Amino acid sequence: MDLKAHMNSNTFCALTWMHTSSEPYGTCRSCCIAREHIKDDKGNILSLADYSITEVLNSPYMQKLRTDMLRGQKPKQCQTCWEDEDNGKESKRLLYNRMIKDFGFKINNAVDNCRPRDVQINIGNTCNLKCRTCSPVCSSKWVKEWKDRDRKIWKPEINVNMNDYDNSKFWLDIDGWSKTVQRMEIMGGEPFYNKSFKRLVHRLIDNGSSKNISLNLSTNGTIYDDELMRLMLKNFKAIGVNVSIDGVYEHFDYIRHGVAWEKVKQNLDDFFKLYADQHQYKEPNGYWKMNMSYTVTIGLLNVHYLRDIHEFFEKNYINKTGIANHYRGQKENALEGDRQVPRLEIWNNVVYYPSYYSSNNMPEEIKDKVLHRVTNPEDYGLRKWHPDTYNNNIVPIINHTKRKGGDKEWMAFVNETIHTDSYRKEKFETTFKELFKIYKPYWLEAMKEITTPQAQFKIEALAENKG
Ligand code: SF4
Ligand code: SF4
Repeated sequence: MDLKAHMNSNTFCALTWMHTSSEPYGTCRSCCIAREHIKDDKGNILSLADYSITEVLNSPYMQKLRTDMLRGQKPKQCQTCWEDEDNGKESKRLLYNRMIKDFGFKINNAVDNCRPRDVQINIGNTCNLKCRTCSPVCSSKWVKEWKDRDRKIWKPEINVNMNDYDNSKFWLDIDGWSKTVQRMEIMGGEPFYNKSFKRLVHRLIDNGSSKNISLNLSTNGTIYDDELMRLMLKNFKAIGVNVSIDGVYEHFDYIRHGVAWEKVKQNLDDFFKLYADQHQYKEPNGYWKMNMSYTVTIGLLNVHYLRDIHEFFEKNYINKTGIANHYRGQKENALEGDRQVPRLEIWNNVVYYPSYYSSNNMPEEIKDKVLHRVTNPEDYGLRKWHPDTYNNNIVPIINHTKRKGGDKEWMAFVNETIHTDSYRKEKFETTFKELFKIYKPYWLEAMKEITTPQAQFKIEALAENKG
């Protein structure tokens, strides 16, 4: 079968031939946006603890998905891609069909004999933070608070724990599935806080797979392990580090909760130092081995401070990188001559789930006021946006915030914030003073309403989604 002939069809997805995306309990999907889990014929969800990645990729479920696509069908679990394409947006499917050419991924030509090339592994929910928008499914630190607050924790029926090293197929078959992998993305929990991550790195180095793998990981920035970072740089084909930070100073402490900002700032400096000094690891062909970026996830708690967060990263790190410093007008901070490294970037995400943290759910009447600090930063003593950054990265967030929101989501946000504050002995109103001043009249109104049984019912239904 010649897959090239299908590559440009309206239904072919290269990911289904080479990828799997796992979740903290080892359950998996054809990709992270697929709308159902990979299951067996009886409807049981498959876990990487019971099946190796190669077995999951060649399961009857995945074979059927590939076959349906080759026949020109649009499987319902891939609805997000079909909707994005109907809306004129480049879907994940189209993006990957394009990317596999750039990355040179090899995909096999038989429906029942695929090999993993690009895998997204969730190494478990072990985490040292309990970010406001997260939950016990992704963070072990949330578990106690969740139980103390009498909330149900979702857990799939699983026989073996994914990180049970003696019994989990993920670990038992690692030499098999890892030898064809070219790109690996590690999710958590917090990888540097989870001993299974370190074990994974060592196993991949020991079995020789690491030299073919570009390893990408997301970290919350609370731990910097210099020895492990250098070991990975030396042994993997490439390393990508994405540091997620949703606020700076006391906003960080409030939103992410668990490790003090001062410690995180020190780690950010250390990550940057390694990034800026990576010349020793550069490949003979001139390729850089380390890639780094910052991810900012924007919602009702922090959208007002978007310029503040960007300015922090620009001043401290971004403006010291890249060959385009003169273009940014920041020449005085740039690293000199051959110490230049590729420019760092910020990725802006918007919160969609839980929906009551999404920035579009603030009352319509105050949206312009809240966004004024973002659209006119000079009025607040902040630097003007670079026009490219503003148009390409900030305008979509402003547009998202301006989309019509829901009253019940706003009530749920106020309700959740008050209860979390009370449990953690924190205070939204004093930590985010400027923002609270704008929210206040609507916040007080919501407080009155959330005590009615009708509102409580709606709010609880939304809160269930978080688990
Ligand atoms: S078609 Fe879209 S949703 Fe389905 S596996 Fe491919 S990228 Fe994922
Ligand atoms: S760092 Fe990541 S996994 Fe940990 S609580 Fe925050 S969002 Fe969840």
